[in-house]
Amino acid sequence: MVDYLSNVLWTEDEIKFRKELQAFCNKEIAPIADEIDKGPYPRELLRKIGKAGYMGVHHDKSVGGTNRGLSYEIIVAEEISAVNGGLDMARMASTTLYGMPIARFGTDEQKKKYLEPVVIGDKIGCIGITEPDVGSDTAGMKTQATKDGDDWILNGEKRYITNGSQADYMCAFAITDPNVKSKDGMSAFIVDTKTDGFSVVQDHDLLGMKSARVSWLKLDNVRVPSDMVLGDLGKGFHILMDELDSERTAIAGEAIGYGRTPYEIAVKYSTERHQFGRPISAFEGVSFKIADMAMKLEAGRALTLTAARMYDKGQKITKEASIAKLYTTEAAIQITNDALQILGGAGYTTDYPIERFLRDARLMTIGGGTAEILRFLIQREVYKEFFPR
Ligand SMILES: Cc1cc2nc3c(=O)[nH]c(=O)nc-3n(C[C@H](O)[C@H](O)[C@H](O)COP(=O)(O)OP(=O)(O)OC[C@H]3O[C@@H](n4cnc5c(N)ncnc54)[C@H](O)[C@@H]3O)c2cc1C
Repeated sequence: MVDYLSNVLWTEDEIKFRKELQAFCNKEIAPIADEIDKGPYPRELLRKIGKAGYMGVHHDKSVGGTNRGLSYEIIVAEEISAVNGGLDMARMASTTLYGMPIARFGTDEQKKKYLEPVVIGDKIGCIGITEPDVGSDTAGMKTQATKDGDDWILNGEKRYITNGSQADYMCAFAITDPNVKSKDGMSAFIVDTKTDGFSVVQDHDLLGMKSARVSWLKLDNVRVPSDMVLGDLGKGFHILMDELDSERTAIAGEAIGYGRTPYEIAVKYSTERHQFGRPISAFEGVSFKIADMAMKLEAGRALTLTAARMYDKGQKITKEASIAKLYTTEAAIQITNDALQILGGAGYTTDYPIERFLRDARLMTIGGGTAEILRFLIQREVYKEFFPR
């Protein structure tokens, strides 16, 4: 593999960490990367990733993490995704999408009980935002929670939930006060998926990400004790928005991984495949595609690291995370598609994993905020900067 690690953007410790992680991925994931695409990922593998410390780089030491920050999480996301995208989607859904709201808004008791087992890989988490009638417009959420004595009773459906049928816990969002705008009437809950009334309607059949499970879930009078309310009552929308900043930055890291492996395969193939008496890399129609891929990967890395570094400094990154996710996910689709084109017929076969990366990458301008919604957010932040109220 080409050494990108001399890049001046990274610290020496980050470079060392990445090399160790690459060795782990080569040993534990690469040999079964095609096999696990039949899904679901073996639970044992997630446990191994957790035990090796790659679930908790951005979590506190008190919950089994290493407290290194989001700049390390994007390295993990890139490296595991460069081997198998669905596996990292499952890992990230557990430790980042589920884990970050608990880390940032949970009580010490909640973190000990519901975050630590996820960080060490013993338990699996998921996040429940999307519903059959609610996607981009999260404020239109239909799932309701009503008070019953000291408990809350949750009713509703959650759709396209990564890890849904595998998870032990869900960070679920629901409306607790339908009489006010959902920005003030939404709350977050930690739900034990073994609770009566929690059921899996089905696992969705997907184009890609086949090593993960993505599920449609039903909450039918699910009783949740009040000590499993996450953060302040009525502040769920704020928790949700906060979560999306770290999620989008981490997804950008993944997208670089999906692009990188097909790029590497395409570079190598273009020097080995001969047509018209010369390697196809001699044709600008091929080699200029390689130039575009290299440029997009480097630019994507810089944007993603900028967002992560700002997050680690405690800065608000709604614009930077949106830019990083939008740029890298659109780039990943273009790169995987161009890499397949460079391999010609061979790229369309399963002899090479490019078709798998292309299928996986296609998700990423949809999940965690569509490309259209991200463009909306970026322009909104830009106008706010120019014309502060
Ligand atoms: C494999 C997979 C895994 C997922 N994992 C999770 C998960 O773990 N947890 C979870 O909660 N959700 C998850 N999701 C859901 C994902 O976040 C949503 O699919 C996404 O937010 C879009 O919502 P939607 O599919 O309902 O599309 P819609 O919101 O219905 O949008 C449909 C189209 O309309 C466009 N559109 C909508 N509103 C606007 C607007 N204002 N301006 C311009 N265009 C607009 C969209 O960009 C899109 O092109 C997952 C989805 C998939 C496919």
